Amino acid sequence: MTDDDFKKSTANLKKAVPLMMKNHVAATPANYALWYTYVDNTIPKLNKELDGVINSYGICPPSASDQLYNTHLASRNETKLSELKASVEVLVNEVANSMSDTITGTSKFSAMIDKTFDSLERVEGETMSLDDVMGVVRQLVSESREIRHSTQFLTNQLTKASDEIGKLKSELADVQKDALFDSLSGLYNRRSFDADVNTLCRSNQAFCLIIADIDHFKSYNDTYGHLFGDSIIKGLARRLMNSCREGCTAYRIGGEEFAIVIPNRNIRIARQFADSLRRAIEKLSIKDRRSGEQVGNITASFGVAEFREGDTLNDVLDRADSLLYEAKQLGRNRVMPL
Ligand code: GH3
Ligand code: MG
Ligand code: MG
Repeated sequence: MTDDDFKKSTANLKKAVPLMMKNHVAATPANYALWYTYVDNTIPKLNKELDGVINSYGICPPSASDQLYNTHLASRNETKLSELKASVEVLVNEVANSMSDTITGTSKFSAMIDKTFDSLERVEGETMSLDDVMGVVRQLVSESREIRHSTQFLTNQLTKASDEIGKLKSELADVQKDALFDSLSGLYNRRSFDADVNTLCRSNQAFCLIIADIDHFKSYNDTYGHLFGDSIIKGLARRLMNSCREGCTAYRIGGEEFAIVIPNRNIRIARQFADSLRRAIEKLSIKDRRSGEQVGNITASFGVAEFREGDTLNDVLDRADSLLYEAKQLGRNRVMPL
């Protein structure tokens, strides 16, 4: 890393940190890397997507941060080492310190060489004794040892830093794959849901929460088998994903329970959206591989709640759950409140 690179990293980091705070983004290495890249503007597509998220949500929910990191940074070999270094401030400082030691050492060394040449010129003029010459040589040897030592130190520091960053990167990639998504449905999982809704509540952002639960799901399992039940979950998840392409996010939060978070919309709009999902699910038809039979009439019930200032995740989830319970009581395949 040159001095200029270091200055640029520091400047970018100084821009990235306030943006992260404003958007309620946790101070993790992955997020530093993400926001560093954002202010650096090296991946325009990332900037466009991140701007889109902030436009919809008013903040950047954790699942979106993680997803953007996974898509644009985690697998990119070209993620510059210097950029990641900037995210691990301690390492950067260590490297910078040893760097300036080396730079000082180098200029000391060239001054020494200049002095040595001056001295050697005096040898030619025969004004120096052999002892004097030996003294000059000894000095030169010891100076070059020092400079070699300091270069070695820098190399060690850099190796240590890139080892640590490499380890960090692979750990992040492993953890994030499992941590973010539900493997059966491909939707965001319960953990992502908790993180996102907690963040929205804490940052006091307007949103609505839809909870959906498949009706009489147990009877499909009993009649057609567990694998068929899994196919229903997958098919329904695909519908949700297609309907939630922009501005809202779908999660699988339990066995046959799903959640949709809709930012910046009132309950009337969210209710309408839930009803359009309900109708889309009604049209769902899944083939039973054993009998070849197409199984339709799959339905789900919905509860829709609107965030109120001061709500925690549990508050808003409880309200949506009670409404879902009412929808079940009233005969299923419906959205509550009316
Ligand atoms: P209700 O209309 O009241 O919601 O009835 P239900 O049968 O859908 O609800 P219940 O809670 O009685 O049953 C849910 C069933 O979902 C029980 C469980 O075995 C099944 N289940 C949970 N997770 C999975 C899964 O991942 N795959 C499959 N195939 N079944 C699952
Ligand atoms: Mg259930
Ligand atoms: Mg159910």
